[in-house]
Amino acid sequence: MQQTSMTPRMPRSIPSIALAAPVAMTFALTLLLPSKALALTSVTMEQLRPYFFDETVQRFDAYIWPAYAMAFVENAIQICFWAALLLFTLNASLMERCLCFTESLGRRITSERLQRLGAVLSKVWGDSTWAAAILFVLAYLAIEQLLFLPSSFYFGWVREHQFGFSVQSLPSWLWDWTKGFVFHAISMSALVFGLFGLARRHRKWWLLLGIPCSILMLGAGVLDPLRTKMFRDDEPLPTGPVREAIVATLTKAGVEYEDVRVLKMREISTRVNAFIFGVGPSRRVMLYDTLIAAMTPDEIANVVAHELGHLHDRSLVMNLVGSLLLTPLLWFTAWLLRALGRRQRFGFDDDRDVRALPAIFAFLFALGAVLGPIQAATSRYRENRADDYALDLLQKPEAFRSMMIKLALINAPDLHPPLWMQFQWKTHPLVIDRIGRAEAFAKARGIGLTAPTPEHFALPEDFQKRLTLRAKALQTEVVSTE
Ligand SMILES: [Zn+2]
Repeated sequence: MQQTSMTPRMPRSIPSIALAAPVAMTFALTLLLPSKALALTSVTMEQLRPYFFDETVQRFDAYIWPAYAMAFVENAIQICFWAALLLFTLNASLMERCLCFTESLGRRITSERLQRLGAVLSKVWGDSTWAAAILFVLAYLAIEQLLFLPSSFYFGWVREHQFGFSVQSLPSWLWDWTKGFVFHAISMSALVFGLFGLARRHRKWWLLLGIPCSILMLGAGVLDPLRTKMFRDDEPLPTGPVREAIVATLTKAGVEYEDVRVLKMREISTRVNAFIFGVGPSRRVMLYDTLIAAMTPDEIANVVAHELGHLHDRSLVMNLVGSLLLTPLLWFTAWLLRALGRRQRFGFDDDRDVRALPAIFAFLFALGAVLGPIQAATSRYRENRADDYALDLLQKPEAFRSMMIKLALINAPDLHPPLWMQFQWKTHPLVIDRIGRAEAFAKARGIGLTAPTPEHFALPEDFQKRLTLRAKALQTEVVSTE
């Protein structure tokens, strides 16, 4: 096939260098840092023994390792999906079908109101291909969701039940999954219409979009309550020792708030969590009802104090820098898509072409993989600071330590992940390090702590009952893997 492109072609090596350079730089940077600065720890069974039964650690491993393996499989499926679309130009064939379908659909629509709406959208977009563009995104998302449905179902429902983390019924799980998909489909359609519509009109769309989006990113926290509300109901936390402990913590920290509320998670999950959202006096503290069932008021106060630590740590300057990076990222994406499109090999023309969507996702995935270690290390650093804040604020290292252990017993994190795993993914410090932090804090201030034994950190009996199913499932798993 002869290429008759009139535009001067850039040397083949430039996009490759542009892609490889940040990858190499990141790895060089992260490898230069000593593992202490990265907060990576190799954990031995001996270190865990005062706090966890050996059997508990083994159960967690039985739960976690297949999930790690599946994450790799899912990534492989994702990469193959993009590769199939781009390398075999299936994206172009899919788009052709979408064009045919929307054209024939357009001819059949008789409603005057719909025709008028279509005409307005065509005017905004530049021509009538907007409908095909949206259909393309929807088809893309639907295929992708179907590809991942078996593993989502197995890991999100079957396995979570086997291990007793989830008590959600199948219809409820499917309803959540559907809501998630619809939400995703609507937001992606709007995004694609806006993004490519803008790119079709302005060469410098990345600038026009980057600046307002940076501002929006700064205020994105405002949407948190809406997002949570879509999935679960909440109600005010009734008066009692838990409420008293939390109000005392908030007062001590000098934080304004509107309410302390409980999120009804009991009927779907046995995991625990808490978070704070909103700004100023409209701020809300949200606790999972499972957290209240599992922990003492002092332990819950420590969870809230940790979240307050994040709030305290939130720096406007850092957020500003983060959000301002969006514009250069968009510029680079535009440049990359034009460079790749010029080759006429990947089924799209340039950054104005919706068929470039899989390339954009693939690029963001690669970027995420490269930035993963940096993001994880930054996050671990922030978590440590939030822990320090909580210890300082409440001065209750005993409750902090038992909170950390109970949290681990319930949420089953990897207690001794390999270093490479921590390097790439671990956004939180290891449980053993967080326990160590509380113990060091107590030692430095002459606060006595009880001698740790796994029995000492047992969960309350009624909560333990909820986990019996999980324990049983885990038991059989351990036996069968031995
Ligand atoms: Zn945190």
